[in-house]
Amino acid sequence: MSSDLVIVYHRQPYEEVLENGKTVLKENKSPNGIVPSLKSFFGDVAHGAWVAWKLAEDPSNPEFEKRIEIEDEAGKYSVSRLPLSPEQIHDFYHVTSKEAFWPILHGFKERYNYDPVDWANFRTVNWQFAEAAAEEAAFGGTVWVHDYNLWLVPGYLRQMRPDLKISFFHHTPFPSADVFNVLPWRREIVASLLACDDVGFHIPRYAANFVSVACSLFDVEVTERVRAPAKWISEGTALTERVQPSMLEHEGRKTSISVSPVGVNIDYIEERARADETRIKAEEIRAELGDAKLVLSVGRTDYTKGGIEQLLSFERLLESRPDLKEKVRLMHVSVSANRNMTAYSQIQNEIEQVAGRINGRFGTLEWQPVALISRAIPFTELVAYYRAADVAWITPLADGMNLVCKEFIAARCDGDGVLVLSEFAGAAVELEDAVIANPFSNRSMDRAIEVAMAMPEEERKRRMASLREAVAETDIKSWKPIGFQNHGGTTFAAE
Ligand code: UDP
Repeated sequence: MSSDLVIVYHRQPYEEVLENGKTVLKENKSPNGIVPSLKSFFGDVAHGAWVAWKLAEDPSNPEFEKRIEIEDEAGKYSVSRLPLSPEQIHDFYHVTSKEAFWPILHGFKERYNYDPVDWANFRTVNWQFAEAAAEEAAFGGTVWVHDYNLWLVPGYLRQMRPDLKISFFHHTPFPSADVFNVLPWRREIVASLLACDDVGFHIPRYAANFVSVACSLFDVEVTERVRAPAKWISEGTALTERVQPSMLEHEGRKTSISVSPVGVNIDYIEERARADETRIKAEEIRAELGDAKLVLSVGRTDYTKGGIEQLLSFERLLESRPDLKEKVRLMHVSVSANRNMTAYSQIQNEIEQVAGRINGRFGTLEWQPVALISRAIPFTELVAYYRAADVAWITPLADGMNLVCKEFIAARCDGDGVLVLSEFAGAAVELEDAVIANPFSNRSMDRAIEVAMAMPEEERKRRMASLREAVAETDIKSWKPIGFQNHGGTTFAAE
């Protein structure tokens, strides 16, 4: 059955779990993030399909089940699975995407690694994704492609199926031309994106950067600009942009540029936050802390997340404030994802080293200032920590959006708690009432955590009320990239 909406994202829309030697498909544990946000769009169409890769020791094995039908809370939909060999996945994902694209997208030119990239493999994998999407889509249907590791899909798909409406959404930052143009494949990538009907981003700055890149490489005309709405202007912060290009024309084709910051599932988080078991768990956490404050930091182990910079700031805090002995604990959750990648294992080692040093320098038998946690905490448990924390300390060096800070706010139905947020997280443009910090400045980092810990109750509550309003504005349900204005009841099919 052909589909009105085909979502193309490299991961499958469920988790594959091994139970008694058998693989079972389970709903994703986290209610937030890309997969649950995207699946909800299937509710608006007669039939939907999802295209993803799946590891296959031998991709030519005829037993490999390429297409399966799924029925879950998002309804019934098809999943087309591309069999990729371990080598293809390594080259396409771990090397090209993570060693070449990821550092550039986040502005870390010095970490960019060109040498191991197998560009022919990247093209082949993207071509396969495009073919699978072309096979699934109904005539005049919509194909919605996600994230940088599928940058070449729109261009290929346009050649295969000129009838389709093609949109692309970036879940990462998008850098300026000075940084993006480090990529030698820049023209091929941008030409592919210009084959879209719509290219989407989280915040106006990333959209403006993309347009500056497109104009640097091609004869592109910006035919329409819009003023960014006041709710996305966080005065004086690094990522705020007041005007956003919204329509481009290139070789007679129009491409709209849309901005839609993704949000979190507020109803679900509040329900979890108010649940008895969460309340009891939060009380237990607090009881264990005694009169010490809990500072909570949650992220993946990735150089973009600024874990080391944050730990060093905490070390300086303890150095300069001996009165904080036994009065503060930092719970530093740094989930290590890619232990097999050198860049990530180095960061992990460094984090462990600095955390160990802080505990060695300042800790006592009864008090360890840093609790370092490297495994993922199940979301339901995380909500209890959000509720128990005095301060959420979220200071990435670069982050497309950052959902953790929004989850923390959504979980604070008690109206208390302080958020310290990096001005280089996309969410900072929406969350003006956080204590904004610049993670590249020791002074700014150190000051922000001190201000947050000493903030009087009245100010905490005033700021949290405003933060909760901002988060409610971009609830997961209100996420409507402009190319998908129909989301909310009508069909995606072209007129
Ligand atoms: N998360 C989790 N357990 C953990 C750490 C993180 O469930 O121990 C979830 C968190 O709730 C959030 C997501 O992982 O939904 C992280 O998203 P974010 O946008 O903050 O960062 P990303 O990892 O996508 O860069």
